[in-house]
Amino acid sequence: MKAKMMVIGNKKETHDTNTITFHSDARPDFRPGQFFIVEFMHEGGKIPKRSYSTSSSPTRRSIIEFTIKQMPNGYVSKLLCGMKDGEELMVDGPWGNFVFDEKKMPEIVMLAAGSGIAPFRCFCQYILDKGLPTKVILVYSNKTEQDIICKKDFDEFAEKIPNLRVIYSLTREEKAGFMCGRIDMPCISDLLRELPGAFFFICGPPAMVSDTEKLVLEAGVPKERVKTEKYG
Ligand SMILES: Cc1cc2nc3c(=O)[nH]c(=O)nc-3n(C[C@H](O)[C@H](O)[C@H](O)COP(=O)(O)OP(=O)(O)OC[C@H]3O[C@@H](n4cnc5c(N)ncnc54)[C@H](O)[C@@H]3O)c2cc1C
Repeated sequence: MKAKMMVIGNKKETHDTNTITFHSDARPDFRPGQFFIVEFMHEGGKIPKRSYSTSSSPTRRSIIEFTIKQMPNGYVSKLLCGMKDGEELMVDGPWGNFVFDEKKMPEIVMLAAGSGIAPFRCFCQYILDKGLPTKVILVYSNKTEQDIICKKDFDEFAEKIPNLRVIYSLTREEKAGFMCGRIDMPCISDLLRELPGAFFFICGPPAMVSDTEKLVLEAGVPKERVKTEKYG
């Protein structure tokens, strides 16, 4: 389904990432974790289409938020991060099977790197809004503390959602309060000890997703309990 949506907010999250809020009374419905294909209407449809996960929950009526990292020399991500209130674009969707289903998934582990945090912001908002009893652990990996996207939102989620634990990991800095290094086998083993029946969701750059999925499967998680989304 296609819908025209209008920008009603554009918030700078970090030095290279913005969350843009779009509004329409005809906003398509979607499930937590799905994405939309974004199409600009000006310049005769010459601007390439790109996919973006919804970083807001379907429980927030009439809006969709996308949390977008500006790629170095990235064409569309730069245009989106520069959008102003009142500007419009088309969203086409929802698409994808990277979906959190609260009825089938009483325990989930979310593993994210960089802008791969977007769908997990949606999951947490959804769990909070619906008051779900889902047990959740998020491990969110970034190069440095200043690269952590939506940290304030996740710190708030961790305060408000009793069954949510958030672990931030840094790969290029050592700091108190942060896990150091990439998501590795000892980390995954610890997560499995805590949530042995968990469904694993992995989202981020393609190499991170492939490497982490391999580890999760090696650790013995059945394939049907592992979901991945590659941003590439
Ligand atoms: C299902 C899905 C969901 C997604 N969700 C999100 C999300 O929530 N948030 C998010 O930020 N992103 C998300 N993405 C990624 C997004 O779709 C775009 O790929 C991203 O924003 C980059 O698009 P761009 O047009 O800005 O970059 P592009 O212009 O396509 O460039 C991408 C990179 O490639 C390099 N590049 C471009 N052309 C060349 C070339 N000829 N040679 C060498 N290098 C080149 C650029 O320097 C840049 O670093 C998602 C992707 C998928 C598939």
